[in-house]
Amino acid sequence: MLIVRAIIVATLISSVAAGPWGQICAGNPMNKARGCDGYGCGYYAAPRKDGRRKHLGVDVICRDGSTVYAPFSGMIERRINPHGGSSVIDNGVQLRGSGFCVQMFYIRPVKYRGRINKGQTIGEMMPMQRVYPGITSHVHVQKCNRFNVTRPEPWKRKHSLFLNELLSLNDISLHLAPLFNSCGSSRPGQHISSTAPAQPLSAALLAPAFAAGGRCVFAGPWGQICAGNPSNKVRGCDIKGCGNYGAPRKSRDGTIRRHLGVDVVCNDGSTVYAPFSGTIERQVIPYKINNAINNGILLRGSGFCVKMFYIKPVKYQGQIAKGNKIGVMLPMQRVYPRITSHVHIENCNKSDPTGNL
Ligand SMILES: [Zn+2]
Ligand SMILES: [Zn+2]
Repeated sequence: MLIVRAIIVATLISSVAAGPWGQICAGNPMNKARGCDGYGCGYYAAPRKDGRRKHLGVDVICRDGSTVYAPFSGMIERRINPHGGSSVIDNGVQLRGSGFCVQMFYIRPVKYRGRINKGQTIGEMMPMQRVYPGITSHVHVQKCNRFNVTRPEPWKRKHSLFLNELLSLNDISLHLAPLFNSCGSSRPGQHISSTAPAQPLSAALLAPAFAAGGRCVFAGPWGQICAGNPSNKVRGCDIKGCGNYGAPRKSRDGTIRRHLGVDVVCNDGSTVYAPFSGTIERQVIPYKINNAINNGILLRGSGFCVKMFYIKPVKYQGQIAKGNKIGVMLPMQRVYPRITSHVHIENCNKSDPTGNL
């Protein structure tokens, strides 16, 4: 069963936009998914800052005012108000047919009930920029019976194919034309629960300050990690994936893993600093098969414990003070040409370190 599922995932992912659904938004023929922007990430299961809830749909990029199409033939069953009637984009429909049932948010539908065929106009993208300036405007698509990846058992069998479809939609964002947001970083999961999605960033969620012009500035307890990146800017999405905590990673066998660290942008050869004062306990290496960037350290102190990868450290043991040089960024471009070179930093307990940046 696992092998069969892996094959299905691999097939769907490799076929990119050749899933069973048709084009969703005019101007986005590949159903390209929203990457990460200042409001969060658009992929399925994008984590929320509190680590408990997830984004239970996929955000398909769609400019405000664009025509939106039915992804499959079926019946529009009812109106959905994702915001409970509180915003200008608070509209959507539930569509069932062809073996699927989805809810599509942020569209003004052509009707609230009745038959529609795949590819027909189902509505128009609402003015999302008015509600979330600078966001990547998108149609949110989710399964009618929301399933929670943090509690997989009940839905696993029944919905596995659908999940694979969502992952394949998401995969487009990773491999075709990843989005680069205004701040090059992600604040995952601002837009999570399907009944109340797209909450604006609250002060509590937003550990980083959100400066004028839509640029993300991080203001967590850690100091600058890499020379040339004073705001600890996080890697966005590139040909190898996204740098945010929780980003999906595809294994060789087609299974999907999660990125359990955060990638801080760092040019090859740059000086890397200790983000907090503590003790370098030992060397840690990310790969079983050696390569030019297979090095790192474990640093503990000031109430934190992290592993930092892809650096050549100044030492493998001993005290270091916050802001002191801890190493040099290794030549990542040699191993992964055109990736956004970065220091990978992860908490020893694999929790989300993003708020510390
Ligand atoms: Zn969404
Ligand atoms: Zn990483």
